[in-house]
Amino acid sequence: MNELHYQLDLLKAMNQKLSEKERMYAKVCESAEGAFLYCSFEKNMIYALGQWNDFFDFEIRESKDFSRLLDAVEEQYVLALRDVLFLEKLGEETATAECQMKGRKIWLQFRTQVSYDRSGNPTDKVIYISNITKTKSQNEELTYMAYYDGLTGLYNRNYFVRLLSEYVRTASEKKSVISVMIIDIDEFRKINDGIGIVVGDELVQQFGIFLKEICGDNVIACHLHSDVFCVAIYEPSGTRNVETIYRAILKRTREAFHISSGQEIHITVSIGVAEYPEASTSALELINCAEIVVFKCKKQGRNMLQYFEPPVLSDFLDSIELENKLKKAVYNKDFYMCYQPQYYAGNRRLRGVEALIRWKDEDAHWISPATFIPIAEKNGTIIPIGKWVIEESVRQYALWRKQFGFPFIMSINISSLQYKKDDFADSVMEVLNRYKVKPGEIELEITESVLIDDFSSVSEKLKVLRNYGIRISLDDFGTGFSSLSYLKKLPIDTLKIDKSFIDTVMTDSATRVITESIINMVKALGIESIAEGVEEEQQYKYLHAIGCDVIQGYLFSKPLSPEEFEAMLSSSL
Ligand code: C2E
Ligand code: MG
Ligand code: MG
Repeated sequence: MNELHYQLDLLKAMNQKLSEKERMYAKVCESAEGAFLYCSFEKNMIYALGQWNDFFDFEIRESKDFSRLLDAVEEQYVLALRDVLFLEKLGEETATAECQMKGRKIWLQFRTQVSYDRSGNPTDKVIYISNITKTKSQNEELTYMAYYDGLTGLYNRNYFVRLLSEYVRTASEKKSVISVMIIDIDEFRKINDGIGIVVGDELVQQFGIFLKEICGDNVIACHLHSDVFCVAIYEPSGTRNVETIYRAILKRTREAFHISSGQEIHITVSIGVAEYPEASTSALELINCAEIVVFKCKKQGRNMLQYFEPPVLSDFLDSIELENKLKKAVYNKDFYMCYQPQYYAGNRRLRGVEALIRWKDEDAHWISPATFIPIAEKNGTIIPIGKWVIEESVRQYALWRKQFGFPFIMSINISSLQYKKDDFADSVMEVLNRYKVKPGEIELEITESVLIDDFSSVSEKLKVLRNYGIRISLDDFGTGFSSLSYLKKLPIDTLKIDKSFIDTVMTDSATRVITESIINMVKALGIESIAEGVEEEQQYKYLHAIGCDVIQGYLFSKPLSPEEFEAMLSSSL
């Protein structure tokens, strides 16, 4: 009897332990985020645990019910899922399948674990089902970022270069042609700086979306950087070629881009084209060659398409070489100043000199300032060069002033970048004070391009210089936007009529009308006029007759070295 009691107690205790364990397992399953299927092969029973009801609206009790799971996923995942659900048939222990639910954006992961007995028969299996939609979309985003540009949805640079390299590989096997176009929005900086980067971004985005539409069958496009795009066409033929794409771009850019803030923006583009194998046989170099052509288009006035030809490269390399030489020259101070005299038209007496820079490069070649000043402006070396020009011209003037005992005007060319420096006026005054030169004997020549950038801030700066007593002269008048009306608003003492007017003044009656009205206008405003590039007696006589104050040009004198100028002055005294 005791034995029986003992057995009963034991059973009770075991039952209690079992139900405790069961409760524990049930709790664990409930707190897990996924759902479980526990399958017993011995009993041919399947239990659904965890969050099963959150996942599915059907039940699974036996093996044949698995067909309902197979029906619930997109077709392309059915085979993989079948293997995972019936893993024991493959004799394996664990396997995983990731499946998208039919017609839904939900992704589930099925992970099966099968247990076997000693003789290799399956005893039971657990299938764990979890929702992996979030990780899947994060992965997709990462994949997207690896291939695409976030702003435009076009390929990004890296992936595009990879695709283009594949094009190149295939083209080298099949002897095909590839056209690479670099498309650069003209004057994008003005939009970005002037209207704002938000607008700039939206413009780039809209242009990118437009380019995406022309992609397709062996035509790929990418957003390279900023406002620059690249399109590659594999084996151009039929309507898939540079010309048709260019025509489509022109058609699009004839219409405004409507920005969400309400602005309407019209753009033009510069396009450089390089072709495989003619320009290069490497993907990166093809892009580089096309970029060099864009650079050339920009220099030639923008809004055009040009093809790469080998001389483009050598011109470009020349300009790079020049740029490097220029940097060295700044360091070594390989510059010289020469001075071109200016004479009063009435009495032919010396009015002053224009200081003109000369550069003798390492190979003793003279390089024209018309060639190197624009490069110096582009790479910033104009700042140290311009500083040196002021120092040298003022130093020279102070010597001559003392040597000859009478004043004249030293006219110095100033580039717009120099004006932009806040301390410009003070730095000029510092040099004048150091050499004890009167501000009224120094004239600074500015060009109209200085004013295009920012009329009001530049004219304020000019006023400061003039308040110190420095003269201001407007150079090359007639080559820029030359509006006579803004002359009234400008604080200037002198206006220099560009050589291009003087060249045709005797042969072209329209030029004569303009020249006469410029001279009359400046006279009325109390501004002095100088004619530049006077080479013939006839021109001089005419200019004198219509009231031009000062003459500068080869007729009277070429630019002279300091020694030549001294000799000239000494002999005329
Ligand atoms: P610019 O200021 O208009 O200078 C006048 C240019 O015309 C000078 O050329 C001068 O030598 C040339 N010239 C003068 N008379 C005649 C003539 O009768 N016939 C012909 N064919 N040419 C004549 P240069 O010295 O080659 O200077 C070219 C330009 O380079 C200058 O044009 C000026 O814009 C710039 N430049 C020269 N020196 C400097 C400088 O020190 N700083 C800056 N920022 N620019 C400079
Ligand atoms: Mg000048
Ligand atoms: Mg000039």
